[in-house]
Amino acid sequence: MRQLAQLLKAGEISSQELVQRCLEQISKTDGEINAFITVDEQGALEQAAQSDERRAKGQTLSPWDGIPVAIKDNISTLGLRTTCGSRFLRNYRPVYDATVVERLQGAGLPILGKTNLDEFAMGSSTEYSAFGVTKNPYDTSRVAGGSSGGSAAAVAAGQAPWALGTDTGGSIRQPASFCGVVGLKPTYGRVSRYGVVALAPSLDQVGPMARTVEDAAILFSLIAGADPRDATSTGSPPFALPRWDPEVVRGLRVGVPEEFFSSGLHAEVEGAVRRALRRLEEQGAVLQPISLAGNEYAIDTYLTLVTAEASSCLARFDGVRYGERVPAADSNTMFAKSRGAGFGPEVKRRIMLGTYVLSASHYEAYYEQAQRVRTLIKLEVARAFEQVDVLITPTTPSTAFRIGEKRNPLEMYLSDLYTATANLSGVCALSLPCGWDSQGLPIGLQIMGNHFQEELVFQVARVVEASVERGAKGAV
Ligand code: GLN
Repeated sequence: MRQLAQLLKAGEISSQELVQRCLEQISKTDGEINAFITVDEQGALEQAAQSDERRAKGQTLSPWDGIPVAIKDNISTLGLRTTCGSRFLRNYRPVYDATVVERLQGAGLPILGKTNLDEFAMGSSTEYSAFGVTKNPYDTSRVAGGSSGGSAAAVAAGQAPWALGTDTGGSIRQPASFCGVVGLKPTYGRVSRYGVVALAPSLDQVGPMARTVEDAAILFSLIAGADPRDATSTGSPPFALPRWDPEVVRGLRVGVPEEFFSSGLHAEVEGAVRRALRRLEEQGAVLQPISLAGNEYAIDTYLTLVTAEASSCLARFDGVRYGERVPAADSNTMFAKSRGAGFGPEVKRRIMLGTYVLSASHYEAYYEQAQRVRTLIKLEVARAFEQVDVLITPTTPSTAFRIGEKRNPLEMYLSDLYTATANLSGVCALSLPCGWDSQGLPIGLQIMGNHFQEELVFQVARVVEASVERGAKGAV
């Protein structure tokens, strides 16, 4: 991104040309990839023209003024259709911008459009989108991951230099891993959720997706920071881009949780992650085996809580203010018909599960129990960070799977095996490419850092990035 900023500054390229190039790449590739639900050609070009004007007057809003961005379609954009990947909201236009969108616009970034996702961010493959599956730019017979599959694929296919995603149980990191890009799930509370359509408010975070660690750090610096409009936003200081220092890994204590290298982990994924670990060791890091036994319960705990919170959050979609109405004689029938027609099967499944675990007779056995286990997982992660500075694991058990391969929802849920713990404990976690499998598919490595340790995580990621060979096979 520094290069693009430099070119813009030197007047060698304009923001309008940049946007034009992205739009051309989108029109060339998106018929196949399907990363976008809405492309805002006119809006993006207008914003780019304004950026060029500001620059001509010497009034740029940030060094990144004029560099376009793509936004996941569960993040509200004023007047620009925000569907959440759902039929129910296919014509919904928000009346305000999410704080993160406001901040990006405040830095002068034109918005290219809204990217595809599993309906209401429930899923790991974008196969649950009402707008069709997003295909993996490395192999279009495979998924891009999810739920932020559109954002990951757009970045990988060169349609957008960077993008925003959201991550509740892995939805930034898993697609980043499948598409060979960098994605960060920030510390809970570090980025405002105001205007982000909630899946599970106690877990959701917005984060950056980009081609390099530095680009992800830059995008993160533009969105991080306190927001009085989000009650769960912490008063953390804004994030400033660090001075990169490869020496940070000297003496760095790297925890390697054995439970994340369990059976079910593909050998090539394990091999690539272990190679990256060895390289860190050669550069002075101290590897420390560590146990996070609670991870065994992470998926069950996550699913119980995510369905409970989702069933409650999705109550507002009833055809009255939100969601397309199916007219009926009385209001109860209207609610039922509208919800029945609007929601897809995965959303319905989760609403039913969530309603069940919150029902008076099962609340204690499921919801309360899951909260207790969440606390234990949190404590265990906190104890781990007393012993080590970062934790390194694979991001996902496998590389991108085939479209249609995971028919059983339980199998799909297992995609979050290594990612849900960061959401449950609130810590930050980043995925970056650490190699390619024998089929040319990207492999992701996850670096977890303690609360508000994004800077350290980025620093370590930058060192890992520098030591990884580029894949032989590129994306489209
Ligand atoms: N795959 C997870 C799920 O389906 C993650 C979703 C997310 O992070 N938004 O719940």
